[in-house]
Amino acid sequence: MKVEKNLNDKLRDTKLIYDLDKIEEKEEFAFQLDWGKIDTPEGLFNIIDKVDVRFYIEKNSEGFLIKGNVKTKLELECSRCLNKYNQNIIGEIEAYYINSKLSDKYTKNEKLDSLDNIIFFDESKVDVTDRIIESILMEIPEKPLCGEDCKGLCAVCGIDLNENPDHKHEEEYIDPRFAKLLDIFNEEK
Ligand SMILES: [Zn+2]
Ligand SMILES: [Zn+2]
Repeated sequence: MKVEKNLNDKLRDTKLIYDLDKIEEKEEFAFQLDWGKIDTPEGLFNIIDKVDVRFYIEKNSEGFLIKGNVKTKLELECSRCLNKYNQNIIGEIEAYYINSKLSDKYTKNEKLDSLDNIIFFDESKVDVTDRIIESILMEIPEKPLCGEDCKGLCAVCGIDLNENPDHKHEEEYIDPRFAKLLDIFNEEK
């Protein structure tokens, strides 16, 4: 859907664009964003709290550094029990913006382990929206869990074992839907 595809672009806001010429040597910023949703590689997720952003911008001779953190809460689906739950997110922002005139020096420098945190810029205006989005995406667990001790779902019938801690099947029990398959399997042996 077109709407979803462009969601993260819609999160862009003029107040997230900083004019470096207007920034002193080092300046701190703190604000909250009312984003509501975020587009991720796994789909659209609800943000159920304000996005709390704090960072500083520090200028140097080659460009500037942005460093800070992002706090919020996402609604995720537990990978074991499939229930929705709230996940606290504390993301980090750390990016070096280097004047693109100096890009050769950096791309040719073998000492540099990675260019991951380096962004080259031409204009004096920079948009930090992507840094905030990235910092949230980085903190979404690969296998979200509603709790470390989530018991998940019964492998036989799919009932939620967190809500039914005493749930058990007789050892001999075989789901009738599988019984036929098992018959066929046994015949082939
Ligand atoms: Zn769970
Ligand atoms: Zn069961």
